[in-house]
Amino acid sequence: MARDFTADIEDPIAREVIANVGTWVDKEVRPVASEFEHADEYPDPLVKGMSEMGLFGIKIPERYGGLDLSFECYAGVCMELARGWMSLAGIINTHVLVGYAISEYGTEEQKQAYLPKLVEPEMRCALSITEPDAGSDAQAIRTTAKRDGDDYVINGQKMWVTNGNRAGVYLVMTKTDPAAEPRHKGITAFLIDHDTPGFIKGKKFDKLGYKGVETTELAFDDARVPATSVLGGAEGRGFQHIMSALEVGRINVAARGVGVAQAAFDDSIRYAQKRVAFGKPIFEHQAQQLRLAEMAVKIRAARLLTLDAARKKDSGERSDLDAGMAKLYATEIAQQCVLDAMRIHGGVAYSKELPLERYYRDAPLMIIAEGTSDIQKIVIARSIVKDYPV
Ligand SMILES: Cc1cc2nc3c(=O)[nH]c(=O)nc-3n(C[C@H](O)[C@H](O)[C@H](O)COP(=O)(O)OP(=O)(O)OC[C@H]3O[C@@H](n4cnc5c(N)ncnc54)[C@H](O)[C@@H]3O)c2cc1C
Repeated sequence: MARDFTADIEDPIAREVIANVGTWVDKEVRPVASEFEHADEYPDPLVKGMSEMGLFGIKIPERYGGLDLSFECYAGVCMELARGWMSLAGIINTHVLVGYAISEYGTEEQKQAYLPKLVEPEMRCALSITEPDAGSDAQAIRTTAKRDGDDYVINGQKMWVTNGNRAGVYLVMTKTDPAAEPRHKGITAFLIDHDTPGFIKGKKFDKLGYKGVETTELAFDDARVPATSVLGGAEGRGFQHIMSALEVGRINVAARGVGVAQAAFDDSIRYAQKRVAFGKPIFEHQAQQLRLAEMAVKIRAARLLTLDAARKKDSGERSDLDAGMAKLYATEIAQQCVLDAMRIHGGVAYSKELPLERYYRDAPLMIIAEGTSDIQKIVIARSIVKDYPV
């Protein structure tokens, strides 16, 4: 039995939801996660379980059939999912993020068309920003959308699309005015259905970790979409809409960092009390106590920072600074904690029989995706300097 962290959650409904997800993770996810992961198999029964708990509708407004719970609750749920298997929190990430973008910025027609479907078990969402020549510098994308009567015609290539094969709807960043200055004014986001002619699903990447969930290439070859598929109905606002939605994504990835670090810690503190060296459990050697104490403090700080960012998003205020801090810290400490967990486990850490090797392969993704740690630092620095005008 691990420590109960739900006391950190202010809202009693959220506390109950998170506790239920945690129980489900211990019972249904942890026993099978490595098997699915080693086979790189999409975890259909686990995704079904998440759907039955209503998690895919966690941020969908009630009037469209969702649970409409807080970001605080969402963050706690993602911590628990990642404590079981980080990929599950990845499957839900772009889904919730796209649902948020539609709820916040979509036209009423788009909300009615998509939001009720996002609660359904079959319907996943994907977010497609990254291209072969544009990652951190998202405004450098080259995918174009040209107006043609009542339609737009889209051409370009996308990379690293999570849920790329299975999604029903894709939120895609394009340029409607490639010459615009500043560049973001020429960026428009589209909601594109999976079966749009000219929309081609490409190869699935063979990844170091973050397995089970597919990450793919996509291409648009004269893909024709109606003008009504522009998110929010007006050109030139796609960059702001997607950056706001990325705050939700960064809360998710921060929570994943907490979950993976917590799993590594839980395994380590149990192991340290059982494994004997030089006549006593290794936990009794002070070096291991110091290591575990440092891990515990880092995870606690990351948890509180992540919940703080989630509460800021709940307040409706801009939370790029808070989400950036949480994402930076929680993912960097996850990387450190997983390596410390390997040191505590010694040789057995290197065996594929323990889930630790999976945490070790999963951790680096979180310092890269949804904006690298360098990019988070830039976001943080640009925000905090505003408080110190000279
Ligand atoms: C498994 C996986 C899943 C993903 N899922 C998605 C998805 O669903 N949708 C999507 O759109 N994208 C997705 N991505 C893409 C991800 O968001 C990008 O990989 C990430 O933003 C970094 O971009 P890049 O890979 O092009 O690296 P680059 O931008 O080329 O960065 C390379 C290095 O340069 C550094 N760097 C870049 N600019 C600066 C700067 N100004 N100052 C200092 N350092 C800088 C970076 O920090 C990094 O260290 C995914 C990636 C992975 C690996």
